[in-house]
Amino acid sequence: MLSTMQDVPLTVARILTHGSTVHAGTTVATWNGASADRRSYAEVGARAAQLAHALRDELGVVGDERVATLMWNNAGHLEAYLAVPAMGAVLHTLNLRLPAHQLAFIVNHAADRVILVDATLLPLLAPVLPQLAPTLKHIVVAGQGDRAPLDGFAGTVHDYDELIAGRPTDYPWATDLDERTAAALCYTSGTTGDPKGVAYSHRSVYLHCLQVIAGDSFGLTARDIALPVVPMFHVNAWGIPHAAFMSGTGLLMPDRFLQPKPLAQMISSERPTVSAAVPTIWSGLLDELDHGAYDTSSLRMVVIGGSACPPSLMRAFEERHGIDVVHAWGMTETSPLGSFATVPPGLTPEQRWPYRITQGRFPATVEARLVGPDGTRMPHDGTAAGELEVRGPWIAGAYFGGAGQDPLRPEDKFSEDGWLRTGDVGTITADGYLTLTDRAKDVIKSGGEWISSVELENHLMAHPDVAEAAVVAVPDEKWGERPLATVVLRDGAAVEFTVLRDFLAERVAKWQLPERWTLLTEVPKTSVGKFDKKVIRRQHADGELD
Ligand code: ADP
Repeated sequence: MLSTMQDVPLTVARILTHGSTVHAGTTVATWNGASADRRSYAEVGARAAQLAHALRDELGVVGDERVATLMWNNAGHLEAYLAVPAMGAVLHTLNLRLPAHQLAFIVNHAADRVILVDATLLPLLAPVLPQLAPTLKHIVVAGQGDRAPLDGFAGTVHDYDELIAGRPTDYPWATDLDERTAAALCYTSGTTGDPKGVAYSHRSVYLHCLQVIAGDSFGLTARDIALPVVPMFHVNAWGIPHAAFMSGTGLLMPDRFLQPKPLAQMISSERPTVSAAVPTIWSGLLDELDHGAYDTSSLRMVVIGGSACPPSLMRAFEERHGIDVVHAWGMTETSPLGSFATVPPGLTPEQRWPYRITQGRFPATVEARLVGPDGTRMPHDGTAAGELEVRGPWIAGAYFGGAGQDPLRPEDKFSEDGWLRTGDVGTITADGYLTLTDRAKDVIKSGGEWISSVELENHLMAHPDVAEAAVVAVPDEKWGERPLATVVLRDGAAVEFTVLRDFLAERVAKWQLPERWTLLTEVPKTSVGKFDKKVIRRQHADGELD
């Protein structure tokens, strides 16, 4: 029997209409280096309508054509986030830290017709231009700055504000679009091979928003102000901008001011309640907070994800600054919210820790299973380890094959029955807590045993003299692979490797202790700020033996 319920498509247009009317007075504040420029959600909605008119009437964007953004987290980017999907086109967020050849690859692969770019990022776009296909017709520049880097672009260059000025402030949004059509396109950061595109649907964005605003998640309300430090090109800033428009949560956008000092300043003066970023950002901010006089009392929650969060970092934020850090796991392919480490009720603060340092629990919408090396299902008993596979309404079932091509389903990424193979290895407890021991490709296979690089890193980063530590596998004649520990010391610290090794020896089995150690001034990072183990492996394959 069919249900008797209305079949209303879940579309970004509905989120836009709701946020700009019901939450008309909520503001997006964009940091300008000294203070914040404010725009109400009503103004954002009006400007989004003007942008949609300009894209359709002036630049000729029709149907599901792609409109790309090369922008910081700011109000203009928010307008594009809403306008492009809500008019029925597809928003393609470009990762501004990708090398020029990869940027060109994804613009061409997506067949972007327009790029909206912040003026401060034009120098990044200039070297990409000669590699771009003629599908790219327009570049729209937001903000003041020298346009000279665009000399030689064969298409048309526009100024964002001039382009939208005087156009109608309402638009016949594509509210009843088929909810399964693409709303946004995001490419993985391409640490292995070419970046792969994930095309989120209106439905997946909408349902994911509901999860972002749910309790036992970010729990965004109209009383919150969210500071997404995570870039809007990194899995849609983890869904926060769209979700904020749904829940009426204020936004504080850091623009290009992502260094620890301005972040600490904007937190002090703009008083966000929730923030989110990868661990490397938070460890930089922690140093700044330790040494300056900042008021962080507004923050009720800081979400750390994107790579394993060292428990020592969580404790330091809580004990030294009273900030509750929550650990979360996700991927580009999972929109990204996969799991969230909130704790069961009735526990003392100390009893809460074993739950908090896990990657957390899956919401009802995300099904998870562990698969052993021979393809068998592993029990969820907190001990048996396997590769994590997931499925759900906001989990990718394929990659975007390119304009006019079939979707791609590489076997190493999707199981035969359609689950996403995450490449992450871990355990799940009977009550659903996920603990990742490693990425399959980062685990160290030593003489038939597996050593978790993450576990060694977490212990090393708990040492007071260690700022960062990344552990990678290096080839070893006897054992196949052995761990190499690369370490960045805190300013002014001097500590022998033997001391660090003794420190580790008190915490892990002896056969796991690294023999090879290297001191670094900085751990190489990926385009989204994670430790880049591929580069470390390449650079330090011949680490020193002590
Ligand atoms: P990339 O693969 O280029 O880093 P993603 O941002 O999609 O791009 O990364 C997803 C991966 O990040 C996951 O598969 C996992 O390995 C890692 N990751 C994300 N969150 C966590 C976490 N909380 N703990 C450990 N690893 C994490």
